[in-house]
Amino acid sequence: MEQTEPRLLLCTDLDRTLIPNGTAPEDPWARKMFSRLSCHPQVTLVYVTGRDRHLVLDAIAHYDLPQPGYAVTDVGSTIYQITNGDWSRLEAWNLHLQKDWPNGASERIRVLVSGISGPTLQEEGKQNTFKVSYYLPLPLNANEIMDRVGQMLQREGIAANPIWSIDEIEGVGLLDILPARADKRQAVRFLQQQLGYGDEEIVFAGDSGNDLQVINSDISSILVANAAAEIKQAALEWAQQNHQTQALYIARGGLLAMNGNYSAGILEGICHFQPAYKSYLMRGAA
Ligand SMILES: [Mg+2]
Repeated sequence: MEQTEPRLLLCTDLDRTLIPNGTAPEDPWARKMFSRLSCHPQVTLVYVTGRDRHLVLDAIAHYDLPQPGYAVTDVGSTIYQITNGDWSRLEAWNLHLQKDWPNGASERIRVLVSGISGPTLQEEGKQNTFKVSYYLPLPLNANEIMDRVGQMLQREGIAANPIWSIDEIEGVGLLDILPARADKRQAVRFLQQQLGYGDEEIVFAGDSGNDLQVINSDISSILVANAAAEIKQAALEWAQQNHQTQALYIARGGLLAMNGNYSAGILEGICHFQPAYKSYLMRGAA
């Protein structure tokens, strides 16, 4: 008799979570199995990433990833709905962000930040309606720059969220200024509410610092086994201090003899939070 699996809003980061572009080895079967799971009629797949739409499409083609139903891109500033390969921006999310980001906010931020030494505006193709992006020189005195940017925005009454990170491949610092309500966690929650999923029907997977926004929350979250030890430690400490250990799963390998890295870790975590999917995967692996 066919077993009925529950509905699942499966949200995952891409780089070094689903995409095996880290130093740890990928299990040879994991991505195929992940693709099969993502086609399950009860599963809605959501990519949650710092990449923009073009870079997500590149990754889908290059790594043969399944087509998602939705994509939260540009560090949370854009949500797309994808129907038969057609990407359209979720207008409700734009309207939501506009409350923090009236017309002209991006231009005002550009003028303000141009007065600070250090940040250089990124190419126009990397800017969007709800994101102003800069390069920062390395080595980076991030705290000082972030303090100055934060104070300026506050003085101007702009409810914005400056986020910095390092692009290790290009060897450059990055600064993204987004509306205060645009981050990965808030975008995932917004999508969950829009689509009418319950808290027990959503799972998030990630590997690194900017995923902690979601992982350090009451959303059921997976850290893949290839995540850095410090990230695992930080997530565990947050969960213990905030009584959310039931909402955190750190993959360690072992499901169907896989190693827990990348997509194998996502599958392992799904089976932890939604055990009905374990027998579904085992039926496919047999
Ligand atoms: Mg990542």
